[in-house]
Amino acid sequence: TYDQWQAYCQALVSQQQIEGRAFINGGYTQAQSGRTFDCVNPANSEIIAHIAECDEADVELAVKTARQSFESGVWRNQSPKVRKEALIKLAVLMEANQTELAALETLDMGKPISESFHVDVPGSADVIRWHGEAIDKIYDEVAPTQEDVLATITREPIGVVAAITPWNFPLWLACWKIGPALAAGNSVVLKPSEKSSLTAIYLARLASEAGIPDGVFNVVPGFGHTVGKALGLHMQVDCLAFTGSTRTARTLLEYAGQSNMKRVWLEAGGKNPNIVFADCPNLDKAARSAASGCFYNQGEVCVAGTRLLVERSIHDEFVQKVVEASRHFKPGDPLNPATNMGALVDKQHQGSVLQYIQWGQQGGATLALGGSAALDADKGAFVEPTIFTGADNQMRIAREEIFGPVMTVIPFNDEQQAIEIANDTDYGLGAALWTANLSRAHKLAKQLRAGSVWINNYNDGDMTVPFGGFKQSGNGRDKSLHALDKYTELKTTWIQL
Ligand code: NAD
Repeated sequence: TYDQWQAYCQALVSQQQIEGRAFINGGYTQAQSGRTFDCVNPANSEIIAHIAECDEADVELAVKTARQSFESGVWRNQSPKVRKEALIKLAVLMEANQTELAALETLDMGKPISESFHVDVPGSADVIRWHGEAIDKIYDEVAPTQEDVLATITREPIGVVAAITPWNFPLWLACWKIGPALAAGNSVVLKPSEKSSLTAIYLARLASEAGIPDGVFNVVPGFGHTVGKALGLHMQVDCLAFTGSTRTARTLLEYAGQSNMKRVWLEAGGKNPNIVFADCPNLDKAARSAASGCFYNQGEVCVAGTRLLVERSIHDEFVQKVVEASRHFKPGDPLNPATNMGALVDKQHQGSVLQYIQWGQQGGATLALGGSAALDADKGAFVEPTIFTGADNQMRIAREEIFGPVMTVIPFNDEQQAIEIANDTDYGLGAALWTANLSRAHKLAKQLRAGSVWINNYNDGDMTVPFGGFKQSGNGRDKSLHALDKYTELKTTWIQL
């Protein structure tokens, strides 16, 4: 029952000593101030734990210990094989703790338990394993210079990496940073989102058990304007690895400029176009993909297809299909295994999403589905899947990232107009197009200004392919071997023969 689940999670939090704890230098510790803040279940507004409210003093300690572990070589000078084995062990431990991690994730941020259990936790373990497996299979280079010179190009870890992560896929996105950063030999300080810190804190103990040495992986929960800022400005942090909003991303660039010019890697927001042409090979499949591409994870997905661009000749027919497909997503108790749409991360975010829905209506768009809070709206942060038609690309609901279950449908007349609308955004994370015309698919894929383009599907992903954005969606790429570029410096060494 629900109460049993909640009791199980509360017991877990206290048994594992993550209640009110950060993880610094290989062990759990309180914030030095002794302060905590409430961790609230967004499905019912009940407090489920207290999170250590770290501040500048804790950052100081965590960065110092990370720096010491880096300089000592205890991790970075290990052979890649040793680092590989520790990371694979971590992945195995994550899988062994699948239920615990999934339950904490769902209670903390509201996503359905079926997804945290079957998708997020195994996906996160896979990221760690993949980077572990990769690291002893990468060779350095020799440059083709003169006969009497040997010039080698080698990769070295950068140093102390501060990972600052969001709340929508808390464990998974943290692993996108931690996996390659640790594999490459860096030491890491992770600051999870204040809205969902539990799985990161839990993960720290598993990393320690897996043999990652003390000081190499630290977790400092707390707020952006304190912990995040202190990491951003710290002279001993060599790299910021960030996923979050474009607004915060800008601030991190400023921190780097004001301090030590640390490397700043940014995975930021999106307002992604999903373009459906009249010659789409399968409108039913496209409609189901449009719905799941927008409403999966309550729409709290950076790469959600929130702008649905539909060729005018099929507009009404296709919108009808999308509305029907979207009814499949029914907000429900996140701990019920049958639920496919949970609660938004908190009441404040629910308020922001509902405000956008109001702006959409005031701006003249028409509600084709949803538009309200759902379920026990007083206590739970639920919002129905919502679809606007009659919109244009200048409306606020078409320009700003709502980060909730809201889709804006915009009609277009021809290829040129579709591309103009698709690219008329500050963002450039993902884009999709549906067409049976091969030459159109190739031509338009080149014209779309986005880091990922999907043709006749939405949001396929794999560890082997890089993920990241053009324009204000960020820089650098997570996943794949390209992710390692973020966490290594290239060194050339000239040897006169
Ligand atoms: P956010 O920017 O509010 O917070 C992200 C992290 O930054 C949190 O840990 C937060 O505490 C920290 N932070 C906030 N202000 C800070 C400051 N002044 N200094 C240092 N750190 C600070 O984002 P969010 O609301 O947690 O996440 C949602 C956003 O994340 C959306 O914009 C979404 O598109 C984006 N996102 C992007 C990707 C991607 O891969 N591109 C993936 C998921 C989410």
